[in-house]
Amino acid sequence: MQDSRLVTTYTFWNTYRNCPRACAWRYLHELVPQGRSTNLRFGSLIHRCLEHWHTQQDIGAVQEIIDQACAHRMQYPEVLQAWHLASAMMLGYAMRYREETFTITDTERLFSGPIINPASGKPSRTFLLAGKIDGLVEVDGEVFLLEHKTTGCLDGEYLEKLWMDFQLLLYAYALERYDGIRVAGAIYNILVKAKLRQGQGETALEFQQRAAELAAKNKSGTTTATRKLPEADADFQARLRVKYADPEMFHREVLYFSRDQLAEVEAELWLLTQQFLEARKHDWFIRNTAYCFHYGTPCAYYPLCRANGAEHVIDNLYERRPPHEELTATRDDAPVF
Ligand code: SF4
Repeated sequence: MQDSRLVTTYTFWNTYRNCPRACAWRYLHELVPQGRSTNLRFGSLIHRCLEHWHTQQDIGAVQEIIDQACAHRMQYPEVLQAWHLASAMMLGYAMRYREETFTITDTERLFSGPIINPASGKPSRTFLLAGKIDGLVEVDGEVFLLEHKTTGCLDGEYLEKLWMDFQLLLYAYALERYDGIRVAGAIYNILVKAKLRQGQGETALEFQQRAAELAAKNKSGTTTATRKLPEADADFQARLRVKYADPEMFHREVLYFSRDQLAEVEAELWLLTQQFLEARKHDWFIRNTAYCFHYGTPCAYYPLCRANGAEHVIDNLYERRPPHEELTATRDDAPVF
């Protein structure tokens, strides 16, 4: 018989905590904004490459994954940029971690189990918790979660926020509860995205304007300036490789979990389920308007909330996609961009 319990994930509960209305848009109405951000696609590609690297240690095969994911790079400049960045990043990573300090025991591990009532110890009849863990590793006989992250800015604030990361605590809790694996902590495997951009050269008009300005500054009224040409792919790749030879482009942060933290996760998760049930009973998911412009950018559902859920806004700006796409396996040769 098919399990009728509602599948939830870290992203589900994190969205609910940030704004219950956003959770309803995504998980009850199954709406997502049309298109997918380049950042998300890039993150998916690097996850795919890292999984392959950690299991096969074959940088040639990793490059093939990047080539296939960015098959349309000659047509789209943003795809070419991603191809350059991923190629140099993965090569730099392979050089940086030629010798690993841990033993990988599992990658892309799926888990699933009922959410537990901490007071009675009984499983929920309504909710399941599921997820996918980037990796499990062993260090000196202890098990750690391995979590891959790409970021454009690695600073003290970024590392500080990891201490409050609900995701890996949730995963550690789930592994202990459902699979009986005691997790000592987490290793955040952070890869920094280089900000370098390929030189685009000048258009004929831009060159004419620059040449005219230079000539005007010369007593002779002429200039020897030549038009700047676009940077060749090989030259840009060489610049990126130099950048990724810098050890600071990679970082590993180790955090340890206490048993109290995991008990708190169970209690908090249960409370969230009770709030969700109450919201669903009243068919009213509160809008956390303090979150609409979090980090200075509008929430993906802002046009929808502002239009009070109007159908024409849904038709024009959103598409319906089943939830929890992150739990389904993707082929290594599937296009990403
Ligand atoms: S726009 Fe604001 S109220 Fe609407 S879902 Fe986003 S955060 Fe919530």
